[in-house]
Amino acid sequence: MKWRDLLAGELRKEHVGQRFALAGWAATRRDHGGLVFIDLRDESGLAQLVINPERAPEAAKVAHEIRNEFVLRAVGEVAARASEAVNPNLPTGEVELQVDELEIVSRSEPLPFQLDDENVDESTRLRYRYLDLRREKMQDNLRLSATVVAAIRRFMDEQGFVDVWTPNLTRATPEGARDFLAPVRLQPGNFFALPQSPQLFKQTLIVAGFGRYYQMAVCFRDEDLRADRQFEFRQLDLELAFPTREEVWDVLEGAVVASFEALGRTPPERPFRRLTWHEAMARFGSDKPDLRFGLELHDLTAETRDSEFKVFAQAPSVQYLAVPQQLSRAELASLEELAKEWGGKGLAYLVFDEEGEVRSPIAKFLSAEVIEAVRPDEPAATVLFGADEPLKVARVLSAVRNHLGRELGLIDESRDEFLWVTDFPLFEWDEDGGRWTFSHHPFTGIRLGDEDLIESDPGAALSQAYDMVWNGWELGSGSIRIHDSELQKRVFKQMGIDEQQAEERFGFLLEVLRMGAPPHGGFAMGLERFVALLAGESNIREVVAFPKTASGSEPMTGAPTPIAKDILAELGIQVLPQFES
Ligand code: ASP
Repeated sequence: MKWRDLLAGELRKEHVGQRFALAGWAATRRDHGGLVFIDLRDESGLAQLVINPERAPEAAKVAHEIRNEFVLRAVGEVAARASEAVNPNLPTGEVELQVDELEIVSRSEPLPFQLDDENVDESTRLRYRYLDLRREKMQDNLRLSATVVAAIRRFMDEQGFVDVWTPNLTRATPEGARDFLAPVRLQPGNFFALPQSPQLFKQTLIVAGFGRYYQMAVCFRDEDLRADRQFEFRQLDLELAFPTREEVWDVLEGAVVASFEALGRTPPERPFRRLTWHEAMARFGSDKPDLRFGLELHDLTAETRDSEFKVFAQAPSVQYLAVPQQLSRAELASLEELAKEWGGKGLAYLVFDEEGEVRSPIAKFLSAEVIEAVRPDEPAATVLFGADEPLKVARVLSAVRNHLGRELGLIDESRDEFLWVTDFPLFEWDEDGGRWTFSHHPFTGIRLGDEDLIESDPGAALSQAYDMVWNGWELGSGSIRIHDSELQKRVFKQMGIDEQQAEERFGFLLEVLRMGAPPHGGFAMGLERFVALLAGESNIREVVAFPKTASGSEPMTGAPTPIAKDILAELGIQVLPQFES
């Protein structure tokens, strides 16, 4: 027996008069006391079944038993719907199946929620993910994801990239997060780390003579989960031999355009815009600025050096942004709260009314020159200040800028702004460790000519790293790498990894770099983030089939779980008493 002759969503007017078997789920059942209507759903869509007790008395009996989400098989004749019953919103809306035989193939227990209920809380959705995934939106999201991945693979293949699988049981690869560890039964007390990225393998593959490597790589990072972060995620991971950074960007732009085209959307214009990190920070206070609106930052440090207002005079950096409208006290108070959340001490402001009169508790401390310097062209406006260490000011004002962009409707949602942010600093200062650490990863190349700054002025050294940003979301990072083992050692050393530690942790890399390593560079783009944005979702959990909750568990399977003591003992592991359950 064939379960079905065609898919429910394929039923059309040209099939009228033909007999078909369909199979799927009962999406809805309407009992009109006599006639029963069932919307039968499968992966292709919906078809209406009509069960008429006069035509098919046995089927009618079965129909009364059917509840939502029962699995059915129906055999019948396709008929045109009466004109008043046509549903123009449904591709199958002109026809229905007049059922002769109806079989309940599989029953469903009462549902924990109805599939058309939009207000189910996320923990319930994740607990019953198999039901949640039956919904049209989730089906669309996962299919969109598959379309994008297929398009990228096609594109990478056409461009001559070789798909190479790299290990998931490996050594720690520093990408700035904690590692997930896997114990090894054959070597109790030893652990593999799950890769934070295939970074060192891909560099090695280039040294091994693969000029163009790529992989849809699964990466694992033990960090706090957020809307745009999961413990495990996929990257379009790639690496090239002898590249210029423009050549790397060209490949990524091609992959983005191929994805848009596969979805039938207008692709973004190429080449993408480019901003150096310094310019992005100065103008937007962010290394992932949303360029769909202006509201740029301005520097006022020089002008306020001798200000009577001590907060400004003493701050290493004073910056402001000018909002094109008068903000109310309540709005200013809530912005101040936001500033504090982002580590600001407060948020000084000047409000200019329609007449250009200024209102502010700090106005009397500011010179006329300073007030004139910040006065916006439009009369009714608000100027918001940040005064602190430059990176702190940037963090606060960029959060304020993004908030206002949304709240005041300044964002042009019809635009797509792709951007390369380039020339990142090589190191950043690690407050806790009291030393310099990498800002991307330790293998990032140094801007040519900045090599001597590694020792003399690490904070000023720039790297050959770049990020891709879409509408304020960081989609990924990459760089031209260090391909000289001596230079690599100097970078390790500045980060507090001495020669011996470097040998222990990265000896294989240093060796690889000594064995004929060509210049190389690459990139990794977070697939879930990219897909989420393409799907119009602000949370990547909406495009992941079985994601972890914010607290790091997976409610459907109930993972993670404790493990029996004897199994742990085999692995050489004992759980501390306070963590025993
Ligand atoms: N391995 C880096 C990351 O995962 C990307 C790269 O530098 O290619 O962010």
